Amino acid sequence: MNRRDLLRAAAVATAAVPAGAVTSDTRLDLDAVRLYLRHKWTTVMSSSEYRDVISVAYTHDGLTGRGEGAPIVRYKEDAWSGLLALEKERALITFSDPWEFEKLMAQLFREIPEAYAAKSAVDIALMDWIGQKLGIPLYRYFGLNPKATPVTTFSIGIDDPAKTRDKVREAAPYPVLKIKVGLDSDEATIAAVRSVTRKPLRVDANEGWTDKEVALRRIQWLATQGVEFVEQPMPADRLDDMRWIHERSPLPLIADEAVRHPSDIPKLLGAFDGVNVKLDKCGGIMEAYREIQIAKAMGLKTMLGCMISSSCTVTAAAHLSPLVDYADLDGNLLVANDPWRGVTVDKYGKLILPDRPGLGLLRS
Ligand code: MG
Repeated sequence: MNRRDLLRAAAVATAAVPAGAVTSDTRLDLDAVRLYLRHKWTTVMSSSEYRDVISVAYTHDGLTGRGEGAPIVRYKEDAWSGLLALEKERALITFSDPWEFEKLMAQLFREIPEAYAAKSAVDIALMDWIGQKLGIPLYRYFGLNPKATPVTTFSIGIDDPAKTRDKVREAAPYPVLKIKVGLDSDEATIAAVRSVTRKPLRVDANEGWTDKEVALRRIQWLATQGVEFVEQPMPADRLDDMRWIHERSPLPLIADEAVRHPSDIPKLLGAFDGVNVKLDKCGGIMEAYREIQIAKAMGLKTMLGCMISSSCTVTAAAHLSPLVDYADLDGNLLVANDPWRGVTVDKYGKLILPDRPGLGLLRS
C-alpha cells in the first residue's frame, strides 16, 4: 500500500464514522461511587448511612463531561443493575455523535426500558460536554437567567424529637425547611421543629398516609403550623382519594412519587397542584426540561427535587431551577464526601449557579 492508498483508506474510514463521533481520546468511564451521609437518613421508605450512585465520564475531543444518577429504591433501581444496563449500551453511547444527543438519548430510552438514574447519568454527562464544547454554562444553553434561581429548602429526615431539634438548629443557614413526615409521630416531629424555629416549612409525607380522612385531618392541622405545601400525602396510585383530598385541602398538594415521567402529568389534574421533577426519576436534564414545560402548560406549579446525590446531579438540576416555582436541591448538602463543587447556597438560601462552561463542576 503506497502513501496515496493509505490516505484514501483513511478518508474512507473517516467517512464511515458519523461526523464528530470518534476522536483519538473518545472513551466512556462507568463506575459506582459510595456517598456517605452526614446523618443517618430516614424517610417513610428507607433508612441508610450511605448511597451508591452511578458515575459516568464521557470523554471526547479533548473534553470530559460528568454525569451521575442516584438509583431510586422505590422504583426497584440500584447502582449495579444500572451500570450493567449502560455497559450493554457502551458502544451506542461511546460512538454516537454527541452533538445529536437528542437522537442518542431517544435510542438509549428505547434500548433500556427502566434504569432511569443510569440514563440520567448519561444525559447529564452529554449535556456537560455540550456546554463545555460551546463554552457556555448550561443555564445559558436553556436561555435562563442565573439570578432568577429560587431558594432551596433544606430537608430534615425523620428522627426522635431531640435529634430533630438538633438537625433544625444545624439547618440555621436555610430559610425554608422541608420536613419528612408520614408516621404516627408526625405531630411530635412538627412540634419539635416548631419549638426551635418559626421558619416556613414544607412537608413531605412520601406516600405515608393511607387513609384519606386521616390525611386530610393532618393537612388541616399542618395548615395551622406555618406549612406552605404538602408533598405526596398518599400512595401514588390512590388518585381518586387524592382528588377527594384536593377538593378539601387548605394547602397546595405536590405530586412526587405519583409523577415519574412527563406522560404521568395529565392524570394528576384535579388531584394535585404541582409536580416535583427529579432528574433521577425521569432520566436526565432534557427529560426534566420537557416535564417542567408540560406541567407549566397545564397550569401546575413546578418544583425541582433531588435524591441523595453529589454536587454533580444537584448542579445539573440547579441549572434548570430558574424555570421552577420551588427547589428542594439539598441532596449534596447531606453528603459527607462530595467529590464535586458546583452549585452553592447563599445566606438567604438562594441557589448560586457556577458560571463556568457546562455544569461548571470543580473537584472538591
Ligand atoms: Mg418527595
